[in-house]
Amino acid sequence: MNAKPYVLEQTNWKQIKEQKYDVAILPWGATEPHNYHLPYGTDSLETAKIAEHAAGKAWEKGAKVMVLPVIPLGAQNMGQIDMPFCLHTKPSTQLIILKDLLTALSGQGIKKLVLMNGHGGNDFKRWCANCNLSFPMYLFL
Ligand SMILES: [Zn+2]
Repeated sequence: MNAKPYVLEQTNWKQIKEQKYDVAILPWGATEPHNYHLPYGTDSLETAKIAEHAAGKAWEKGAKVMVLPVIPLGAQNMGQIDMPFCLHTKPSTQLIILKDLLTALSGQGIKKLVLMNGHGGNDFKRWCANCNLSFPMYLFL
């Protein structure tokens, strides 16, 4: 496999320890049925791939960017909660996950996080302003 130094799941510590990363991209999807023809991971798979392509283009131009593993847990999919393997998380759970990641990343010197949303039920807009107040980093949606 040709490991990409801007995709965290593909790279290793040896490859990244000499790099200084400025930006992290967090793809956030969901795991839910998408009719009969699309996979449960559609939101997550698409978003992770878009993040990887965008980061690749930025990397080629000299940007130091890292794509984090996709979060496959969406919110507001209670309309399908009775369907098998529709995984639901509360917005409050998502906020806890986001704050934990912001704590870790800001402590590691990452200055910017791009939150890339791939699921219509995820509502991150109202958090961005709040998180920017309490973390020494910029959060973009
Ligand atoms: Zn969705």
